[in-house]
Order: sequence, then structure tokens, then C-alpha cells
Amino acid sequence: MSGLGKGIFSSSLAKMLQDKGLAIAPIKLEGYLNIDSGTLNPYRHGEVFVLEDGTECDMDLGTYERMLDQNLSRQNFATSGQIYTEILERERRGDYLGRDVQMIPHVTGEVKYRLRKLAMTGGPDGGLADVIFVEVGGTVGDYENSFYIEALRELAFEEGPQSTCFVALTYILEPTILGEQKSKAAQLGIKRLMEAGIQPHIIGCRAHNPVTLTVRQKISMFSNVPLNRVFSMHDRESIYTIPEAMRAEGLDREVLSILNLHGRVDTQHEDRARQRWTDFASKIRTRPRKHQISLGILGKYAALRDAYASVDKAIEHSSTHLSADVDARWIDTSDVDSSNVQELLGNVDAVIVPGGFGERGVEGKIACVQYVRTHRIPYLGLCLGLQVAVIEYARNVLGLRTANSTEFEHHAEHPVICELPEQRRIEGMGGTMRLGAQDVLVEPNTLLSFLFESQRLIRERFRHRYEVNPAYVERLASAGLRFSGRHPKHAIMQVIELPPDIHPYFIAGQFHPELTSRPLRPQPMFMGLIAAAIARTNPQFVGESISPRWLRPQPSAPKRNGPKSPPKVISHTGR
Ligand code: GLN
Repeated sequence: MSGLGKGIFSSSLAKMLQDKGLAIAPIKLEGYLNIDSGTLNPYRHGEVFVLEDGTECDMDLGTYERMLDQNLSRQNFATSGQIYTEILERERRGDYLGRDVQMIPHVTGEVKYRLRKLAMTGGPDGGLADVIFVEVGGTVGDYENSFYIEALRELAFEEGPQSTCFVALTYILEPTILGEQKSKAAQLGIKRLMEAGIQPHIIGCRAHNPVTLTVRQKISMFSNVPLNRVFSMHDRESIYTIPEAMRAEGLDREVLSILNLHGRVDTQHEDRARQRWTDFASKIRTRPRKHQISLGILGKYAALRDAYASVDKAIEHSSTHLSADVDARWIDTSDVDSSNVQELLGNVDAVIVPGGFGERGVEGKIACVQYVRTHRIPYLGLCLGLQVAVIEYARNVLGLRTANSTEFEHHAEHPVICELPEQRRIEGMGGTMRLGAQDVLVEPNTLLSFLFESQRLIRERFRHRYEVNPAYVERLASAGLRFSGRHPKHAIMQVIELPPDIHPYFIAGQFHPELTSRPLRPQPMFMGLIAAAIARTNPQFVGESISPRWLRPQPSAPKRNGPKSPPKVISHTGR
């Protein structure tokens, strides 16, 4: 079933083979008819992940990018909608030369073609991949993915022995009234796969608790899979510990045997890669929680964390590196205003406003931004988080009480955030949203420049329709808001921040920095936020256990402005 962790299982296996020096190309095959994930509701499907080339795809692609530290592209993602569209367009062009167009061989043929092409060009540098990881969405027996399963069966047959390793991920039920694990449902699911002509080589058993030997033995027996290839994938503290757990069970060697790849292992490469990963993974497992911080995340989809999977991961990466134990509080801002904001944010050490669409909860977010700005609480805005910060600054510092975004108020008197389709035309970006990776020119001597170690150009991923209205930039800047990241050529504002004498850490990007955070290369804006939150709770750690690398020097000794201190109202006059 969906949400079980196929992407996690697959990317963990892929990570182990990548560490051995093999070139990996993953692909997610989606059963749905949408052309991409752009139109999917994150509340139902989890976050929409955006690749460098602007592809809007399933959040599993994020898992592969993070696990493999490898940028993916549209060839790593296919939906039934894309495949049918391709075939129907070909049919209209007359390319089938009078033949009837059928599920087999035409649709399955297109699937096999894409997989072979990926093998030829999907390696990290656009070259050959040694192993491709194919993840089929949905459940065996679904109508919508059955042609993928058939295509894979054919592919395995055509490519011959030792070309393919099939992995079935199944679920072990643990009814509380029985107090024991049951393997029957899993057995029936695997049988269904075998009816489709596929004999799995490896079985991953998802479960809450470690899967018992008895259950693994039963599954092994009824599915012709040796016991050492039946792996317990129970809940763990972090997905990043799974590659190690697989290795401990010898699953990597099993895959090498199944695919006849033992001779291809680069042991030196593996030793180096493992060392780096093990350091990170053991930090997650042992959790040296030196610093306790609480982080408020203000999201519309607060009820479902999958809607912000990358934000969650980016926080995990940076807090692991900084040995911080983050108590993340997901807050729905629909009912927040200036009367209750103190109650909600009075004791958080940092705040994130993640991306979002539509009006609901926006006024609450603006009230929260005003609170964190005036109380010097570290703030990171992600896309919408930049837009609400600009609106708040225009209203409360510049004095434009009616400032708003045209997304929320079509005829706003002061449209400080608005839609500028001509900007997208300048960049040649299609559709209605500005999508994908873009360069950001970094202003020297800013927080952004500090975080990115004085790099002049950084590259980040965007997914937005609205942006800062260039007509207001000068006024906002003269009122103290710094535009520290811009489009290299055009008047598109991509990062805002406050100077160090006004606020210890207040920064927001029009892009989504969470999409580029990787376990071993955490995104600097998240590192800065967590470091600033630690410094706020424990000023004595500054220069001791928090690396100065992540803390911008403050003009004066940092003050602890806790909830009890009077609000420091910052006005633009007299500065
Ligand atoms: N709704 C805003 C826009 O379209 C912000 C989008 C986002 O946060 N991804 O520009």
C-alpha cells in the first residue's frame, strides 16, 4: 500500500550500492493519470517535490535525492498520464502505421523503452547507470499499475538471468488485541505478485516492531525467498539508519549476488563513503542532545507532516549536525491573531513559515511574523514565508496598513506581493508558476553571504506564482529591509533579511531551501536558524559548542529576549 516506505527501502538499497562505487539511476513509476504531481493536494498525497529542471513530482524523489546526494530530472519520474499521452500523440501522428494500438505491446513497450533509456543516460553525469532502481507506486493488484508490473516482468525476461532483482515490500499486521504479528495478509499480497509472473528475490517486511523470526520464516517458506533475504523494516528513529541496518543483515551482498556485481565493488570508495555516512547515522542513533530547542512551524497542513516532508528532513539534517534536540510544534495559524500570538509563540526558540497557497491562515502568519520580528526570535521564511514577511514589514514598519499580496486580495491598495507574468517570460519559464532551479546573486556583507561563505552565486529551487512587487523595493529597503539575494539580471527579489543590529536571525527566501538540504550537506539557512535558536536558549554555548561557522557575529552581546521581556518594537524612524 502507499505510504509504506517503498521509496525509503529502495533508496536505502540504492545508497548501499552507490557507496560501493556503482552509478545509480532511480525512477518512480506512478499509476495515476496526472501528468505530474503539480496539481496534487499535498494534504492527500504529501508534498510536491520540485527538481532542478522544474519537474513537479512525488516526494519519494526527494528521498532519493537526499539519500544519494544526487540531482534528479524528469527522466527519473513517470506517470501513467505521461505514458498514455506519449502513445496517443504518436497514434495521432500516424506513427503506428495502421496497426491497432494496445496495452501490450505498446504501453508496456513505452515503459521498457523509458527504463532502458534511463539505464543509458541516467548516471550521475548523464552517462551509463550501472543499476537502475525502479519503484512502482501503489499496490500489486491495482488496475492502474498492472501494466508497469507486466512491463517489468517482460523486461526481466528479455534481459535474462542476473539482470533483475525484484523486491516486494509488504506489511506485517500486528492487531493489538492479539498482541502478535500476523503474516497472512503479507503472504496473500506476495502470492498476488507471483500470479503476475514475478518471483521476488527479496522481501521487505514493514512493521511497527522488529519482525519476529517465526513470521519471517513463514514468509520465506510460502514465497520461495531464502530467510536471509526476508528483511525486517520496522519503525526506526530515522530513515537514515536503514542503510546500515540492511548492511548489518548482509542485504547488500545478497543484491550483489543476485545481480552478479561482486566484481564491480570499489572497496576504497566504499570505505570512505561509509565512514562519512556512519558518522552522521550514528549521531542520529545516539542523539547527543546537547541543546534543547523548540521550533514553531506555521503551516496550513499542520495536521499532516508529509505535506512538509522536506522541511522536516532539512530540520533533521541541521539539528543532527548541531547536536540539537528539536521539539517541532506544527501550528495551524487559521485562528491566530495579535491577541493570542504570545500564547503560541511565547516560548518557542525559532519559527519557520513554510510554503503555501491560498488565503487561509495568512493573517495569522503575518501576526506571528510581527511577533518574531519584534521579539528577536530567529525566523526562516520559505517562499510564502518571504511573502508574509514582506507584507508584515510594509504594514507595520513602512506604515502601509493595506499592504497585501494580490493572491489574497485581488485589488489590494498596496500590492507589495503580486503576480508578474512578464518576469517569467523574461526567464523563458512556462506554465503559470515559476518552477525549478535558478541562480541567486548574493549581496556581499549580508547574513546570506555569511551563511554561504561569501559565494556570489547560489542555486536554489523555486515554485511560486507571486513575488515582491519591484515598485515597492526601494521603499522597503530604505525602511531597513535588506534584499540580499536577487535575480542576477532582473528585478526579482529572491532573499530578504534584517541587519544584525535589528535582529539576530531573520531571513527568508522566495525559493524552497528545504528542497536542496542533504544529510551530509545541510542547507545553510536551516543551519543558521538552528544555530541561532541554540544561541538564544543558551548564550553561554556561543563559541563553545556551536561552531562560529553558523553564527553571524552580533554587533553587541546577544540578549535573551524571553517571553517576559517587554516587546521591542522596531520602527524605521530614527535608524
Ligand atoms: N502562494 C505563493 C505563490 O504562489 C507562495 C508559493 C509557495 O509558498 N510555494 O507565489
